[in-house]
Amino acid sequence: MENPENPTTTIKEETKTTTINTTTNNNNSNSNNNNNNNNDNDNLKKTEVDSNEQPKPKGSNINNNLKSTVGVLDNVKDDQSWLSDLKLHTFDHMIDISRTICTKCEKKRKYFCYDCCLPLGDPENSPKLKLPLNVDVIHHPTELISKSTAIHSKVIAYEDVKFIEFPEEIPDYNLDETILLYPSEDSCFVKDIDFSNIKKVLFVESQWHNARKILKHPKLQGIKCVKIDMQKTMFWRHQRHGDSYLATIEAIYYFFKEFHLSQNNNQYNGEYDNLLFYYTFFYNLIQTTYKQQNRDFIRKDNYIQ
Ligand SMILES: [Zn+2]
Repeated sequence: MENPENPTTTIKEETKTTTINTTTNNNNSNSNNNNNNNNDNDNLKKTEVDSNEQPKPKGSNINNNLKSTVGVLDNVKDDQSWLSDLKLHTFDHMIDISRTICTKCEKKRKYFCYDCCLPLGDPENSPKLKLPLNVDVIHHPTELISKSTAIHSKVIAYEDVKFIEFPEEIPDYNLDETILLYPSEDSCFVKDIDFSNIKKVLFVESQWHNARKILKHPKLQGIKCVKIDMQKTMFWRHQRHGDSYLATIEAIYYFFKEFHLSQNNNQYNGEYDNLLFYYTFFYNLIQTTYKQQNRDFIRKDNYIQ
């Protein structure tokens, strides 16, 4: 899979402070499609990934691109403990991307089209994943699709992920084959689930208070709820303003990681890390912008910045 020109980007772990709380009541894993890491927002527009002063000719060679990538990552590595062990597809092809016309809807977008869920720039070189279970993302209409992090999962695993608009598109689910990721006292941990009949997992993308409304929908009654084991997750432990909230894409990632562990004798080798490919990329961009502007990175609830 790897070739010498496209090495997997692994970000070195910097610190190991554990601040994650160990309760499991927490996170509306599903609730906050936080972060403004959508590709078209103003902050990102201001941020050129290639932060070097020297402009690069279009199609600059791979070595230059590698340097750029390393530069971006160097800028933020002191705050990246949670990225430590991710095995990510290289960001090289993202460095010189400019806004282009989506081949499907013809809107001008950068990195990917959040309406069509297609990667832009160099689609052939974009990471792709096959997921072992189908995913339905139940999307609350008040959440801007342009800011959805769950969209990343569809860009990367297009065939396996479906967006369901709440409430009108919720189908009749087979209760024996479907589970719903939702943290509550009654939810079972992923590791305790018998997956032999399970074919589909549902995630909710909404604010916390709306998630509760979604859960009350008649067609979702009787679906087994599962939760990820927050004691294992380290994602936000570095956050000064940390809480136990997860972006939807993080919840999806942790679910599949724990699913894989449960099916493979507790072995995991980064198989689903690329679910966080865009999330990590945008996180780095935003942090780099803040650092370049000498501004403190302040994370608000439900938003990455
Ligand atoms: Zn499009």
